[in-house]
Amino acid sequence: MTTLSSTLQEMSTGLQEQLVSMRRELHRHPELSGEEHETTARIRAWLTEAGVPLRELNLTTGVLAEIQGGRPGPTILLRADIDALPVQEETGLPFASEIPGRMHACGHDFHTTSMIGAAALLQKHASTLAGNVRILFQPAEETASGAKTVIAAGALEGVSAVFGMHNKPELPVGTVGLRVGPLMASVDRFIVRVKGVGGHAGIPEATVDPIVVSSAIVGALQTLVSRNTSPHHAAVVSVCRLQVGSSWNVIPESGEMEGTVRTFQREARANLPEQMRRVVENVAAGYGAEAELEWIGMLPAVNNDAAAIELTDRVARSQGLQVVEAVSTMGGEDFALYQEQVPGAFLWMGTGGTEQWHHPKFTLNEDALSISAALFAEVAIEALQAYAK
Ligand SMILES: [Zn+2]
Ligand SMILES: [Zn+2]
Repeated sequence: MTTLSSTLQEMSTGLQEQLVSMRRELHRHPELSGEEHETTARIRAWLTEAGVPLRELNLTTGVLAEIQGGRPGPTILLRADIDALPVQEETGLPFASEIPGRMHACGHDFHTTSMIGAAALLQKHASTLAGNVRILFQPAEETASGAKTVIAAGALEGVSAVFGMHNKPELPVGTVGLRVGPLMASVDRFIVRVKGVGGHAGIPEATVDPIVVSSAIVGALQTLVSRNTSPHHAAVVSVCRLQVGSSWNVIPESGEMEGTVRTFQREARANLPEQMRRVVENVAAGYGAEAELEWIGMLPAVNNDAAAIELTDRVARSQGLQVVEAVSTMGGEDFALYQEQVPGAFLWMGTGGTEQWHHPKFTLNEDALSISAALFAEVAIEALQAYAK
């Protein structure tokens, strides 16, 4: 029996060789966040070759395509990210990065190519679609700035649901990881500035030592998770930079620390800045110093909609893929910003690698390219029906 799943899978397998060559070309020419000019030109050329109409995004990098269905209906968005990292590649692959200190070490070349494949498949089905499928190739995911920019440029206007993925080295090819609710953490940044009184190392009584105060603050911040956050909620507070003092015999005047807070639940994320401010200011006051907290809110958690996950689960199984419960991570993703506005699903796509994301020896199994292309094409088609008004 010929089903939509089997048709798409067969067509996608026919694209596999082309997808591998696209992915390798992207892999050889990685570009950093916001600098994806050649990548943008390549994506535009490939989509145009496949007959996929482009929409103007009026941004310097990134591409928006839209497959116009033959009948009216909702608009579904598929999203890939396109940027690479400041990593020196050490895979030794014949198609390794040709640019020193730059690497597609997070596999965004895989995401991009998969969605080009999905676009090509959908374009071939365009006349039968009831609604439009928009495909977004988003720049600057690694700097958590791209989604914000493309949303401001109107990429989400009129969209009913959004779908996206990240490759997952731990999962074998042919496996997808799905989870309802939080999958990736919110990401926020904080800076603490401590002001003491500097002086002679041998005359501490005339000083307010910002090293001692900073140390006490770092210690006290550890209690925000253990004592202020519900044990049913997940949170991380990490101080990642602490700079104070520059000499062996001078007590410095001030210090500065910086770090990140990660949470899954809105409630935890909402409460932590105030709890942190209280600890920072009052611990410092206890030592006769002053300290201030600067909170830089960045991204909410990737939070998967139940219906969108259910739809993806059904399509994945119909294509013979193995579905497993996705293990969530405290890493962040700016896909979360789309999900704040429209329901969506973000999934793990099994790519069977040996190294984690961002590792200089990160690799993935390219067999997953046509699998992802077929999956997202059918997810989009099913979503056009599910989100029809
Ligand atoms: Zn990454
Ligand atoms: Zn990534």
